Amino acid sequence: MKLELLPSTFDENGMASPRQHLSCFVVDDCVAIDAGSLAMAASAAQKKQIRDVVLTHAHLDHIAGLPLFIDDLFSGLEAPVRVHAAPEIIETLERDIFNWEIYPRFSELENANGTAVMKYQPFAVGEEFSVKHLRLKAIRVNHKVSSVGFVVSDNQMKFAVSGDTAETDEFWRVLNAEENLSALLIECALPNELEELARAAHHLTPRILKQELEKFKREECSIYVVNIKPMYRDEVVRQIGELEIENLQIFEVGQIYEW
Ligand SMILES: [Zn+2]
Repeated sequence: MKLELLPSTFDENGMASPRQHLSCFVVDDCVAIDAGSLAMAASAAQKKQIRDVVLTHAHLDHIAGLPLFIDDLFSGLEAPVRVHAAPEIIETLERDIFNWEIYPRFSELENANGTAVMKYQPFAVGEEFSVKHLRLKAIRVNHKVSSVGFVVSDNQMKFAVSGDTAETDEFWRVLNAEENLSALLIECALPNELEELARAAHHLTPRILKQELEKFKREECSIYVVNIKPMYRDEVVRQIGELEIENLQIFEVGQIYEW
């Protein structure tokens, strides 16, 4: 399995910046988990192949690239872009984004070839569902708005991604019951000194992450930190290092991980 966190921005030499403003993970070049930078940073090959987008929640940094992605592909689509999300997230997207004011309601549109350009695929939290060659299970997490994390597997490998979350018991309960989990991608948005803001916004700091990881009973699983607010990146990275937790590292933007 191949996993990439798409860059949010590029430097003057065209290299991916490590600063993550937006969230979009691409699995095997064909399934996107969140769509923050999907339109802006997917490769030409990925744009050709990605017709499935799975969403954790509807915050802008996780969906910003979705309307633009469908817009860019609109006339050439031979199959709709399928948006897999919990029913309340679909409701939010239709009400607040694809509402004809902010952007067209793509779910009602066809291109000149008669192809519907966008289709919603609601999933039930806690139940397995298929997307292409992958099996996914959504797990309720503890964020400011309705939000889920996922366990994602193909025939060989299984990883989990938290999306945005504060302290949670449900996520760890489900993960501890999964067999053969190889990697965990966990958020840590803010540094320790902003714990009050982290609690208000329902995010983790390195100190709270350490407490959370005590609930996780998987010693052989690699743990990667994601969704660090770009403004505080250096500080969060330093504080993560000071935790001295084995197997805990930063998931590098733009790097391809293969298992
Ligand atoms: Zn969020």
